[in-house]
Amino acid sequence: MYRNLPMHLSQDARFGTLCIHAGQEPEPATGAIIPPIFQTSTYVQDALGRHKGFEYGRTQNPTRFALEANVAALEVGRAGFAFASGMAAIGAVASLLQAGDHTVVTDNTYGGTYRLFERVLRRYHLEFTYVDTSVPDEVEAAMRHPRTKLVFLETPTNPMMQVADIARIAEIAHAHGALLAVDNTFASPYVQQPIRLGADLVIHSTTKYLNGHSDGIGGVVVATGEKEIEWLRFVQNAAGAILGPFESWLVLRGTKTLALRMPQHNANGLTLAQFLASHRKVRKVFYPGLPDHPQHELARRQMRGFGGMLSVELGSLEAARAVLDHVRLMALAESLGGVETLICHPATMTHASVPDERKRRLGISDGLVRISVGVEDIEDLTADLEQALARV
Ligand SMILES: *Cc1c(COP(=O)(O)O)cnc(C)c1O
Repeated sequence: MYRNLPMHLSQDARFGTLCIHAGQEPEPATGAIIPPIFQTSTYVQDALGRHKGFEYGRTQNPTRFALEANVAALEVGRAGFAFASGMAAIGAVASLLQAGDHTVVTDNTYGGTYRLFERVLRRYHLEFTYVDTSVPDEVEAAMRHPRTKLVFLETPTNPMMQVADIARIAEIAHAHGALLAVDNTFASPYVQQPIRLGADLVIHSTTKYLNGHSDGIGGVVVATGEKEIEWLRFVQNAAGAILGPFESWLVLRGTKTLALRMPQHNANGLTLAQFLASHRKVRKVFYPGLPDHPQHELARRQMRGFGGMLSVELGSLEAARAVLDHVRLMALAESLGGVETLICHPATMTHASVPDERKRRLGISDGLVRISVGVEDIEDLTADLEQALARV
């Protein structure tokens, strides 16, 4: 039940159709069009050794299965696994590694990922090297054959919005016998599908664009290889960090409109980036859709639109504070990917756990402000920033 594409969906169904239908078919008992929230911990068995394929809620849940099949289809993978958070999903991917293994990681990765790798997983004798993955040669140079088992990529990066060449880095990883995992949270599968470009694993914090409504925490891993699928299925149950049925249902509701929301995030992101780039109070805008972005050409090839995330350098903590204190429509908050616009200060919020020296090296300065551009009317967003920038 709910594991495969439903019968009524043809193999060449397009992305927007998959968003709505993949992983879902009318519930057999009642015909309910939406997969119900199977809020149950266990399942009654017919007789000893005879059951309907559902034994215990951590191991099997139809609502979660529906979501897993849905996201697997959107990421063109063979199976998906939903976890209690994006971090739990990243932890599950890391559990593919063994003591002594080495991983090459994007240097301005999500702060929580850096914290997990450095503060938790190093204790288990896993090693991590952080490089600028927008330069493929740096990835190549960091590979320690045969100990490097994983390349962990984020593109665009958080918060500096650097873009990595997924296809090129997949070649490098595979030439060294390593897997490529891409954290696709910032882009969403509407904007890019890493597996089509050679990635083996795709990770999402569903908390962001997949859910899209800022009302739940969750994570998903989509895999392609038989060995990885087998292990992830095992470890999801063995370690137990599953996504609950209600959260699974919320994310499924979110993915239904992903193909409608993303074009608006893309359009608003680009317009706001252009507005800020021409504003005299703004030092620099980091957005892959701007022609002066160092990987703009790559982003044009690799992405469908440039997403809704951008960062701006305002020059000082005082300038950043003035804007953050005076925005009215935009909400000062961590997180991203919701329909409402959020604005934050990476240095003290999302990246507070990154050491100061490292922040400086990456460009996460006191004057840097990150915006998750929502789907509001763009005139209202530019007007809000205009009045806030007037206070700088
Ligand atoms: C938010 C985020 C995560 C962590 O996800 P949670 O759901 O908060 O655990 C990982 N990677 C990226 C890029 C994120 O934005």
